[in-house]
Amino acid sequence: MKTCLIIIDVQNDFIPGGALPVPEGNEVIAEINAVVGYFDYVVATQDWHPPDHGSFASNHEGKIPFDQTILNGLNQTLWPDHCIQGTRGAEFHSELDTNAIQAVFRKGMDPTVDSYSGFYDNGHRHQTGLAGFLRGLDIWRLFFCGLAGDYCVNYSVKDALDEGFQCHLYMPAIRPISQDSYREILKELTTRGAILHDELTAPAGIPS
Ligand SMILES: [Zn+2]
Repeated sequence: MKTCLIIIDVQNDFIPGGALPVPEGNEVIAEINAVVGYFDYVVATQDWHPPDHGSFASNHEGKIPFDQTILNGLNQTLWPDHCIQGTRGAEFHSELDTNAIQAVFRKGMDPTVDSYSGFYDNGHRHQTGLAGFLRGLDIWRLFFCGLAGDYCVNYSVKDALDEGFQCHLYMPAIRPISQDSYREILKELTTRGAILHDELTAPAGIPS
């Protein structure tokens, strides 16, 4: 069965020094670069917001980052401005091996809804095209890595499970914002069928 590595949001703003840093986020880069060659396909997602995005606290009078609000009928955590289209913060980290990436799926362009998952916006109203891309290539076995484990990786894996894909998490190449919530999320994802890996070996050796 063909395999695909899905690299979630390894962008400057999510790395220490960026606008919305994930603790130790930089540590995923070398882990990802070490395994990209093991997969038939490699794709990446990129958070890609317009400056007026509704997930930014700065666009809500009287709110500060990490406040809660309702955005277009959905619960929304408000974030610092991050991953604004065309800025350095939105670029993939310069040390990430982007030569291996065959396709990039951008998300979060609609200012009225946030998009944690690489497959759908948070309201499940629009697709990014990633599911169709994978099905079109007859890829059903997905390995996830990137940032952040408790947000965009988590929601991507949940959507992929719902879409019928076999889901694997490459643990050394994932970091969460909150370790406590990530622990609970991993229990839920494995209960739903996701498989966690602490190591991967060359193509033939990728465990089923
Ligand atoms: Zn975002």
